[in-house]
Amino acid sequence: MGKMLKKWDPDRHCYDPYECPDDWKVCGLAFDMDAQINCACCGKQISYGDGYTSREIYDSSGMFGMCICPDCNEAQWEREKERRKKR
Ligand SMILES: [Zn+2]
Repeated sequence: MGKMLKKWDPDRHCYDPYECPDDWKVCGLAFDMDAQINCACCGKQISYGDGYTSREIYDSSGMFGMCICPDCNEAQWEREKERRKKR
């Protein structure tokens, strides 16, 4: 049983349950910029200060975006651009 997070579905405008492995150290708000955490999206280890706040993956309360790595942030921008084109 992993950690339960939420993933925003922009097409349906609702959250889906998103489970990440228990040994991933994911976080939304951090206190320590040097903390070693895992990207909530791909699991890569990064330091918190190098991460970005996801606009897709949220904590279980849905209030805070989780920290993701620069690669996943880039991919997220690409997805957003694609969606905008479709409108
Ligand atoms: Zn990542």
